[in-house]
Amino acid sequence: MTPSTDLNIPLFERAKALIPGGVNSPVRAFKAVGGTPRFVKRAQGAHFWDANDQRFIDYIGSWGPMILGHGHPAVVEAVQKAALEGFSFGAPTEREVELAEEIIGLVPSMEMIRLVSSGTEAGMSAIRLARGATGRSKIIKFNGCYHGHADALLVKAGSGLATFGNATSAGVPPEVVQHTLVLEYNDITQLEEAFALHGKDLACLMIEPIAGNMNFVRASVPFMQRCRELCTQYGALLVLDEVMTGFRVGLTSAQGVYAKSIPGFAPDLTVLGKVIGGGMPLAAFGGPRAIMEHLAPIGAVYQAGTLSGNPVATACGLATLREIRKPSFFEALSARTQSLVEGLKAAAAAEGVPFSADCEGGMFGFFLLPTLPQSYPEVLTTDSARFNQLFHGLLDRGIYIAPALYEAGFVSSAHSEEDIAATVAAAREVFKLLA
Ligand code: PLP
Repeated sequence: MTPSTDLNIPLFERAKALIPGGVNSPVRAFKAVGGTPRFVKRAQGAHFWDANDQRFIDYIGSWGPMILGHGHPAVVEAVQKAALEGFSFGAPTEREVELAEEIIGLVPSMEMIRLVSSGTEAGMSAIRLARGATGRSKIIKFNGCYHGHADALLVKAGSGLATFGNATSAGVPPEVVQHTLVLEYNDITQLEEAFALHGKDLACLMIEPIAGNMNFVRASVPFMQRCRELCTQYGALLVLDEVMTGFRVGLTSAQGVYAKSIPGFAPDLTVLGKVIGGGMPLAAFGGPRAIMEHLAPIGAVYQAGTLSGNPVATACGLATLREIRKPSFFEALSARTQSLVEGLKAAAAAEGVPFSADCEGGMFGFFLLPTLPQSYPEVLTTDSARFNQLFHGLLDRGIYIAPALYEAGFVSSAHSEEDIAATVAAAREVFKLLA
Protein backbone atom coordinates (compact mmCIF):
# COMPACT_ATOMS: atom_id res chain seq x y z
CA MET A 1 0.00 0.00 0.00
CA THR A 2 1.50 3.36 -1.02
CA PRO A 3 0.36 6.67 0.49
CA SER A 4 -1.33 7.56 -2.81
CA THR A 5 -3.54 4.45 -2.73
CA ASP A 6 -4.23 4.31 1.02
CA LEU A 7 -7.89 5.33 1.41
CA ASN A 8 -7.48 5.90 5.16
CA ILE A 9 -5.38 9.00 4.41
CA PRO A 10 -8.03 11.12 2.59
CA LEU A 11 -10.61 10.02 5.18
CA PHE A 12 -8.34 11.22 7.98
CA GLU A 13 -7.85 14.55 6.19
CA ARG A 14 -11.64 14.98 5.85
CA ALA A 15 -12.09 14.09 9.51
CA LYS A 16 -9.35 16.47 10.70
CA ALA A 17 -11.06 19.36 8.92
CA LEU A 18 -14.20 18.85 10.99
CA ILE A 19 -13.40 16.94 14.18
CA PRO A 20 -10.51 17.99 16.47
CA GLY A 21 -7.60 15.70 15.62
CA GLY A 22 -9.93 13.80 13.29
CA VAL A 23 -11.23 11.60 16.09
CA ASN A 24 -13.93 11.51 18.75
CA SER A 25 -11.60 10.09 21.43
CA PRO A 26 -7.91 11.13 21.47
CA VAL A 27 -6.10 7.77 21.51
CA ARG A 28 -7.70 6.83 18.18
CA ALA A 29 -5.60 9.49 16.41
CA PHE A 30 -2.34 7.44 16.60
CA LYS A 31 -0.66 10.55 18.04
CA ALA A 32 1.73 8.54 20.25
CA VAL A 33 2.76 6.09 17.53
CA GLY A 34 2.48 8.30 14.43
CA GLY A 35 0.89 7.40 11.10
CA THR A 36 -2.71 7.27 9.95
CA PRO A 37 -5.50 5.64 11.96
CA ARG A 38 -7.36 2.83 10.25
CA PHE A 39 -10.96 3.79 9.45
CA VAL A 40 -13.10 0.74 10.14
CA LYS A 41 -15.62 -0.22 7.46
CA ARG A 42 -17.00 -3.38 9.02
CA ALA A 43 -16.09 -6.08 11.51
CA GLN A 44 -16.91 -9.71 12.09
CA GLY A 45 -15.67 -12.10 14.76
CA ALA A 46 -12.05 -11.32 15.67
CA HIS A 47 -11.45 -9.19 12.57
CA PHE A 48 -12.21 -5.81 11.09
CA TRP A 49 -11.68 -4.36 7.64
CA ASP A 50 -10.42 -0.83 7.04
CA ALA A 51 -11.08 1.70 4.28
CA ASN A 52 -8.81 -0.29 1.95
CA ASP A 53 -10.66 -3.51 2.74
CA GLN A 54 -7.51 -4.74 4.47
CA ARG A 55 -8.28 -7.24 7.21
CA PHE A 56 -6.85 -6.88 10.74
CA ILE A 57 -6.88 -9.22 13.72
CA ASP A 58 -8.43 -6.97 16.35
CA TYR A 59 -6.91 -7.00 19.85
CA ILE A 60 -8.63 -3.77 20.88
CA GLY A 61 -12.24 -4.88 20.54
CA SER A 62 -13.57 -1.34 21.03
CA TRP A 63 -11.23 -1.02 24.06
CA GLY A 64 -12.75 -4.00 25.83
CA PRO A 65 -16.48 -4.42 25.28
CA MET A 66 -16.36 -6.93 22.40
CA ILE A 67 -15.69 -10.04 24.48
CA LEU A 68 -17.67 -12.20 22.02
CA GLY A 69 -15.98 -10.63 19.02
CA HIS A 70 -17.90 -8.56 16.49
CA GLY A 71 -21.37 -9.43 15.23
CA HIS A 72 -22.10 -12.38 17.52
CA PRO A 73 -25.38 -13.80 16.13
CA ALA A 74 -27.23 -13.96 19.50
CA VAL A 75 -26.30 -10.35 20.27
CA VAL A 76 -27.19 -9.09 16.79
CA GLU A 77 -30.57 -10.82 17.03
CA ALA A 78 -31.30 -9.31 20.47
CA VAL A 79 -30.35 -5.83 19.28
CA GLN A 80 -32.45 -6.10 16.11
CA LYS A 81 -35.47 -7.27 18.08
CA ALA A 82 -35.06 -4.49 20.65
CA ALA A 83 -34.66 -1.83 17.95
CA LEU A 84 -37.95 -2.88 16.38
CA GLU A 85 -39.64 -2.43 19.76
CA GLY A 86 -38.36 1.12 20.24
CA PHE A 87 -35.09 3.01 20.69
CA SER A 88 -35.62 4.98 23.87
CA PHE A 89 -38.56 5.72 26.12
CA GLY A 90 -37.31 7.71 29.11
CA ALA A 91 -39.51 5.40 31.19
CA PRO A 92 -38.69 2.15 32.99
CA THR A 93 -38.56 -1.16 31.11
CA GLU A 94 -38.49 -4.80 32.19
CA ARG A 95 -35.18 -5.25 30.40
CA GLU A 96 -33.45 -2.84 32.81
CA VAL A 97 -34.69 -4.99 35.69
CA GLU A 98 -33.47 -8.13 33.94
CA LEU A 99 -30.02 -6.61 33.39
CA ALA A 100 -29.88 -5.47 37.03
CA GLU A 101 -30.79 -9.01 38.14
CA GLU A 102 -28.23 -10.53 35.80
CA ILE A 103 -25.36 -8.31 37.02
CA ILE A 104 -26.26 -8.46 40.70
CA GLY A 105 -26.56 -12.25 40.40
CA LEU A 106 -22.93 -12.38 39.29
CA VAL A 107 -21.39 -9.72 41.58
CA PRO A 108 -22.06 -10.63 45.23
CA SER A 109 -20.84 -7.24 46.55
CA MET A 110 -23.73 -5.47 44.78
CA GLU A 111 -27.24 -5.36 46.19
CA MET A 112 -28.37 -2.47 44.05
CA ILE A 113 -27.23 -0.97 40.79
CA ARG A 114 -27.83 2.11 38.70
CA LEU A 115 -27.41 2.03 34.92
CA VAL A 116 -25.79 4.93 33.05
CA SER A 117 -24.34 5.39 29.56
CA SER A 118 -20.54 5.58 29.95
CA GLY A 119 -17.78 4.56 32.31
CA THR A 120 -17.00 8.22 32.90
CA GLU A 121 -20.54 8.85 34.05
CA ALA A 122 -20.51 5.76 36.25
CA GLY A 123 -17.19 6.72 37.88
CA MET A 124 -18.09 10.32 38.58
CA SER A 125 -21.48 9.29 39.94
CA ALA A 126 -19.84 6.72 42.23
CA ILE A 127 -17.58 9.48 43.61
CA ARG A 128 -20.55 11.77 44.21
CA LEU A 129 -22.37 8.94 45.93
CA ALA A 130 -19.36 8.15 48.11
CA ARG A 131 -19.09 11.82 49.11
CA GLY A 132 -22.83 12.09 49.73
CA ALA A 133 -22.97 8.87 51.74
CA THR A 134 -19.94 9.68 53.93
CA GLY A 135 -20.35 13.45 54.14
CA ARG A 136 -16.62 13.76 53.31
CA SER A 137 -14.85 15.42 50.37
CA LYS A 138 -11.39 13.93 49.85
CA ILE A 139 -10.72 11.01 47.52
CA ILE A 140 -7.69 8.88 46.74
CA LYS A 141 -6.78 7.78 43.26
CA PHE A 142 -3.59 6.25 41.91
CA ASN A 143 -1.05 7.54 39.44
CA GLY A 144 -1.66 5.84 36.08
CA CYS A 145 -5.22 4.72 36.82
CA TYR A 146 -7.86 6.19 34.50
CA HIS A 147 -11.43 6.51 35.67
CA GLY A 148 -12.93 8.50 32.81
CA HIS A 149 -12.70 12.18 32.06
CA ALA A 150 -14.65 13.74 34.94
CA ASP A 151 -12.83 16.80 36.36
CA ALA A 152 -12.05 15.42 39.82
CA LEU A 153 -10.50 12.27 38.35
CA LEU A 154 -8.28 13.85 35.68
CA VAL A 155 -5.42 14.25 38.08
CA LYS A 156 -1.81 13.16 37.95
CA ALA A 157 0.55 12.56 40.84
CA GLY A 158 1.82 15.50 42.84
CA SER A 159 5.52 15.96 43.39
CA GLY A 160 5.89 14.57 46.89
CA LEU A 161 4.53 11.77 49.02
CA ALA A 162 0.80 11.89 49.74
CA THR A 163 0.35 15.28 48.10
CA PHE A 164 -2.67 16.50 46.22
CA GLY A 165 -2.28 16.19 42.48
CA ASN A 166 -2.38 18.53 39.51
CA ALA A 167 -5.04 18.52 36.81
CA THR A 168 -3.91 16.60 33.71
CA SER A 169 -6.16 18.63 31.46
CA ALA A 170 -6.53 22.32 30.73
CA GLY A 171 -9.96 23.50 31.75
CA VAL A 172 -9.95 21.83 35.16
CA PRO A 173 -9.75 24.52 37.88
CA PRO A 174 -7.28 23.74 40.71
CA GLU A 175 -10.12 24.04 43.25
CA VAL A 176 -11.87 21.11 41.57
CA VAL A 177 -8.93 18.75 42.12
CA GLN A 178 -7.91 20.07 45.53
CA HIS A 179 -9.68 17.14 47.19
CA THR A 180 -8.06 14.47 44.98
CA LEU A 181 -5.05 12.81 46.55
CA VAL A 182 -2.88 10.93 44.04
CA LEU A 183 -0.72 8.07 45.26
CA GLU A 184 1.66 5.62 43.64
CA TYR A 185 0.10 2.27 42.74
CA ASN A 186 1.32 -0.69 44.83
CA ASP A 187 3.10 1.55 47.38
CA ILE A 188 1.85 0.40 50.79
CA THR A 189 4.00 2.84 52.76
CA GLN A 190 2.58 5.82 50.92
CA LEU A 191 -0.94 4.46 51.27
CA GLU A 192 -0.57 4.14 55.04
CA GLU A 193 0.90 7.61 55.28
CA ALA A 194 -1.99 9.07 53.29
CA PHE A 195 -4.59 7.43 55.53
CA ALA A 196 -2.73 8.52 58.66
CA LEU A 197 -2.81 12.12 57.40
CA HIS A 198 -6.22 12.30 55.74
CA GLY A 199 -8.11 9.10 56.65
CA LYS A 200 -10.88 10.80 58.60
CA ASP A 201 -11.63 13.16 55.69
CA LEU A 202 -11.61 10.52 52.97
CA ALA A 203 -14.88 9.72 51.21
CA CYS A 204 -13.35 6.94 49.13
CA LEU A 205 -10.37 5.32 47.53
CA MET A 206 -10.89 4.52 43.85
CA ILE A 207 -8.70 1.98 42.11
CA GLU A 208 -8.42 -0.10 38.96
CA PRO A 209 -7.74 -3.53 40.50
CA ILE A 210 -5.81 -4.58 37.42
CA ALA A 211 -4.76 -1.33 35.84
CA GLY A 212 -5.48 -1.63 32.13
CA ASN A 213 -4.67 2.03 31.67
CA MET A 214 -1.06 1.21 32.57
CA ASN A 215 -1.24 -1.60 29.99
CA PHE A 216 -1.55 -4.39 32.57
CA VAL A 217 -0.39 -3.81 36.14
CA ARG A 218 -1.94 -5.82 38.94
CA ALA A 219 -2.52 -4.37 42.37
CA SER A 220 -0.49 -6.79 44.50
CA VAL A 221 -2.57 -8.88 46.90
CA PRO A 222 -1.00 -7.25 50.04
CA PHE A 223 -1.62 -3.80 48.54
CA MET A 224 -5.27 -4.53 47.75
CA GLN A 225 -5.72 -6.06 51.19
CA ARG A 226 -4.27 -2.92 52.80
CA CYS A 227 -6.59 -0.72 50.68
CA ARG A 228 -9.55 -2.72 52.01
CA GLU A 229 -8.35 -2.67 55.63
CA LEU A 230 -7.57 1.04 55.71
CA CYS A 231 -10.88 2.00 54.08
CA THR A 232 -12.74 -0.06 56.68
CA GLN A 233 -10.66 1.34 59.55
CA TYR A 234 -11.22 4.98 58.55
CA GLY A 235 -14.79 4.68 57.27
CA ALA A 236 -13.89 5.49 53.65
CA LEU A 237 -15.50 3.56 50.79
CA LEU A 238 -13.42 1.23 48.63
CA VAL A 239 -14.51 1.85 45.03
CA LEU A 240 -13.29 -0.70 42.49
CA ASP A 241 -13.28 0.65 38.97
CA GLU A 242 -14.08 -2.50 37.02
CA VAL A 243 -15.09 -0.70 33.85
CA MET A 244 -12.37 -2.64 32.06
CA THR A 245 -11.95 -5.73 34.24
CA GLY A 246 -15.67 -6.32 34.92
CA PHE A 247 -16.79 -9.59 33.24
CA ARG A 248 -13.56 -9.42 31.25
CA VAL A 249 -11.04 -11.07 33.58
CA GLY A 250 -13.58 -13.64 34.77
CA LEU A 251 -17.26 -14.09 35.52
CA THR A 252 -16.79 -12.71 39.03
CA SER A 253 -14.65 -9.85 37.69
CA ALA A 254 -11.41 -8.71 39.36
CA GLN A 255 -13.04 -8.64 42.79
CA GLY A 256 -13.58 -12.39 42.42
CA VAL A 257 -9.90 -12.83 41.54
CA TYR A 258 -8.83 -10.97 44.73
CA ALA A 259 -11.41 -12.78 46.86
CA LYS A 260 -9.53 -16.01 46.10
CA SER A 261 -6.47 -14.64 47.93
CA ILE A 262 -8.13 -12.28 50.45
CA PRO A 263 -10.91 -14.12 52.30
CA GLY A 264 -14.15 -12.13 52.31
CA PHE A 265 -12.74 -9.44 50.03
CA ALA A 266 -15.39 -7.12 48.57
CA PRO A 267 -15.47 -3.46 47.54
CA ASP A 268 -18.08 -1.03 48.84
CA LEU A 269 -18.88 0.27 45.37
CA THR A 270 -18.18 -1.23 41.96
CA VAL A 271 -18.04 0.71 38.71
CA LEU A 272 -18.80 -1.23 35.51
CA GLY A 273 -18.90 -0.47 31.78
CA LYS A 274 -17.59 -1.93 28.52
CA VAL A 275 -18.59 -5.67 28.56
CA ILE A 276 -21.94 -5.07 30.31
CA GLY A 277 -23.02 -3.06 27.24
CA GLY A 278 -21.56 -5.52 24.71
CA GLY A 279 -20.49 -2.59 22.49
CA MET A 280 -23.43 -0.26 23.17
CA PRO A 281 -23.27 2.82 25.43
CA LEU A 282 -24.01 1.29 28.82
CA ALA A 283 -22.26 1.40 32.19
CA ALA A 284 -23.27 1.08 35.82
CA PHE A 285 -22.29 1.50 39.44
CA GLY A 286 -23.58 -0.42 42.41
CA GLY A 287 -23.07 -1.63 45.92
CA PRO A 288 -24.92 -2.32 49.17
CA ARG A 289 -28.49 -1.08 49.55
CA ALA A 290 -27.56 1.16 52.49
CA ILE A 291 -25.16 3.13 50.28
CA MET A 292 -27.14 3.03 47.04
CA GLU A 293 -30.28 4.37 48.70
CA HIS A 294 -28.51 7.70 49.14
CA LEU A 295 -29.27 8.21 45.42
CA ALA A 296 -32.25 10.26 44.24
CA PRO A 297 -35.20 9.76 44.20
CA ILE A 298 -34.80 8.06 47.61
CA GLY A 299 -31.83 10.01 48.92
CA ALA A 300 -30.21 13.38 48.45
CA VAL A 301 -27.44 12.44 45.97
CA TYR A 302 -28.63 13.53 42.53
CA GLN A 303 -27.85 11.55 39.41
CA ALA A 304 -29.89 11.14 36.20
CA GLY A 305 -29.72 10.43 32.45
CA THR A 306 -32.00 10.76 29.40
CA LEU A 307 -30.61 7.56 27.85
CA SER A 308 -29.80 5.67 31.07
CA GLY A 309 -30.93 2.04 30.82
CA ASN A 310 -31.52 2.46 27.10
CA PRO A 311 -33.62 -0.46 25.80
CA VAL A 312 -31.37 -1.33 22.83
CA ALA A 313 -28.20 -1.07 24.93
CA THR A 314 -29.67 -3.22 27.71
CA ALA A 315 -30.69 -5.86 25.14
CA CYS A 316 -27.11 -5.89 23.82
CA GLY A 317 -25.63 -6.14 27.32
CA LEU A 318 -28.04 -8.86 28.43
CA ALA A 319 -27.38 -11.01 25.35
CA THR A 320 -23.62 -10.60 25.91
CA LEU A 321 -23.76 -11.53 29.60
CA ARG A 322 -25.92 -14.57 28.85
CA GLU A 323 -23.26 -15.84 26.45
CA ILE A 324 -20.34 -15.32 28.81
CA ARG A 325 -21.97 -17.15 31.68
CA LYS A 326 -22.37 -20.33 29.62
CA PRO A 327 -20.28 -23.22 31.01
CA SER A 328 -16.56 -23.13 30.20
CA PHE A 329 -16.72 -19.72 28.49
CA PHE A 330 -13.99 -18.20 30.64
CA GLU A 331 -11.90 -21.38 30.73
CA ALA A 332 -11.72 -21.32 26.93
CA LEU A 333 -11.14 -17.55 26.74
CA SER A 334 -8.41 -17.67 29.40
CA ALA A 335 -6.67 -20.56 27.63
CA ARG A 336 -6.69 -18.64 24.32
CA THR A 337 -5.34 -15.48 25.95
CA GLN A 338 -2.71 -17.50 27.81
CA SER A 339 -1.57 -19.11 24.57
CA LEU A 340 -1.15 -15.66 22.99
CA VAL A 341 0.88 -14.40 25.94
CA GLU A 342 3.06 -17.53 26.10
CA GLY A 343 3.56 -17.42 22.32
CA LEU A 344 4.65 -13.78 22.43
CA LYS A 345 7.02 -14.42 25.32
CA ALA A 346 8.61 -17.36 23.50
CA ALA A 347 8.93 -15.34 20.26
CA ALA A 348 10.61 -12.45 22.10
CA ALA A 349 12.94 -14.84 23.97
CA ALA A 350 13.89 -16.57 20.71
CA GLU A 351 14.93 -13.20 19.23
CA GLY A 352 16.62 -11.97 22.43
CA VAL A 353 14.19 -9.09 23.01
CA PRO A 354 13.56 -8.10 26.67
CA PHE A 355 9.85 -8.72 27.13
CA SER A 356 7.34 -9.41 29.88
CA ALA A 357 3.62 -10.13 29.68
CA ASP A 358 0.66 -11.03 31.86
CA CYS A 359 -3.02 -11.84 31.42
CA GLU A 360 -6.23 -12.65 33.24
CA GLY A 361 -9.33 -13.99 31.50
CA GLY A 362 -9.58 -12.17 28.17
CA MET A 363 -7.35 -9.22 29.08
CA PHE A 364 -3.59 -9.09 28.52
CA GLY A 365 -0.68 -6.71 28.55
CA PHE A 366 2.92 -6.82 27.45
CA PHE A 367 5.96 -4.65 27.96
CA LEU A 368 9.29 -4.25 26.21
CA LEU A 369 10.80 -4.57 29.68
CA PRO A 370 12.53 -7.60 31.22
CA THR A 371 10.15 -7.76 34.19
CA LEU A 372 6.56 -6.71 34.79
CA PRO A 373 6.29 -3.14 36.12
CA GLN A 374 4.45 -2.45 39.38
CA SER A 375 3.66 1.24 38.96
CA TYR A 376 3.18 3.90 36.32
CA PRO A 377 6.71 5.39 36.53
CA GLU A 378 8.02 1.86 35.89
CA VAL A 379 5.69 1.45 32.89
CA LEU A 380 7.03 4.70 31.49
CA THR A 381 10.60 3.39 31.50
CA THR A 382 9.62 1.58 28.26
CA ASP A 383 11.50 2.84 25.21
CA SER A 384 8.59 4.38 23.31
CA ALA A 385 10.44 4.41 19.98
CA ARG A 386 10.84 0.63 20.22
CA PHE A 387 7.19 0.22 21.17
CA ASN A 388 6.19 2.32 18.14
CA GLN A 389 8.34 0.09 15.92
CA LEU A 390 6.59 -2.96 17.34
CA PHE A 391 3.17 -1.38 16.89
CA HIS A 392 3.76 -0.44 13.24
CA GLY A 393 5.48 -3.75 12.48
CA LEU A 394 2.39 -5.58 13.70
CA LEU A 395 -0.01 -3.17 11.98
CA ASP A 396 1.80 -3.68 8.66
CA ARG A 397 1.26 -7.41 9.17
CA GLY A 398 -2.48 -7.05 9.82
CA ILE A 399 -2.36 -7.16 13.63
CA TYR A 400 -4.12 -4.33 15.45
CA ILE A 401 -2.98 -3.64 19.02
CA ALA A 402 -3.51 -0.48 21.06
CA PRO A 403 -1.64 2.51 19.58
CA ALA A 404 -0.09 3.43 22.94
CA LEU A 405 2.27 1.53 25.22
CA TYR A 406 0.12 2.05 28.31
CA GLU A 407 -3.06 0.35 27.05
CA ALA A 408 -4.16 -3.25 27.63
CA GLY A 409 -5.14 -5.72 24.92
CA PHE A 410 -8.21 -7.92 24.65
CA VAL A 411 -8.85 -11.40 23.29
CA SER A 412 -12.43 -12.39 22.41
CA SER A 413 -14.09 -15.77 22.21
CA ALA A 414 -14.01 -15.29 18.41
CA HIS A 415 -10.19 -15.32 18.27
CA SER A 416 -9.19 -18.68 16.83
CA GLU A 417 -6.02 -20.70 17.29
CA GLU A 418 -5.10 -19.60 13.75
CA ASP A 419 -5.46 -15.93 14.75
CA ILE A 420 -3.17 -16.46 17.72
CA ALA A 421 -0.61 -18.40 15.66
CA ALA A 422 -0.62 -15.70 12.96
CA THR A 423 -0.13 -13.02 15.60
CA VAL A 424 2.78 -14.81 17.24
CA ALA A 425 4.43 -15.44 13.86
CA ALA A 426 4.07 -11.75 12.92
CA ALA A 427 5.41 -10.67 16.32
CA ARG A 428 8.45 -12.91 15.89
CA GLU A 429 9.26 -11.21 12.57
CA VAL A 430 9.01 -7.80 14.23
CA PHE A 431 11.02 -8.89 17.29
CA LYS A 432 13.78 -9.93 14.86
CA LEU A 433 13.91 -6.31 13.65
CA LEU A 434 14.00 -5.04 17.27
CA ALA A 435 16.72 -7.40 18.46
N1 PLP B 1 -12.58 3.41 33.94
C1 PLP B 1 -11.72 2.62 33.29
C2 PLP B 1 -10.89 1.64 34.07
C3 PLP B 1 -11.59 2.72 31.91
O1 PLP B 1 -10.70 1.94 31.27
C4 PLP B 1 -12.38 3.65 31.22
C5 PLP B 1 -12.27 3.79 29.75
O2 PLP B 1 -11.44 3.24 29.09
C6 PLP B 1 -13.28 4.44 31.93
C7 PLP B 1 -13.36 4.30 33.30
C8 PLP B 1 -14.15 5.45 31.23
O3 PLP B 1 -15.13 4.78 30.50
P1 PLP B 1 -15.81 5.49 29.24
O4 PLP B 1 -14.76 5.61 28.17
O5 PLP B 1 -16.94 4.56 28.88
O6 PLP B 1 -16.30 6.82 29.70
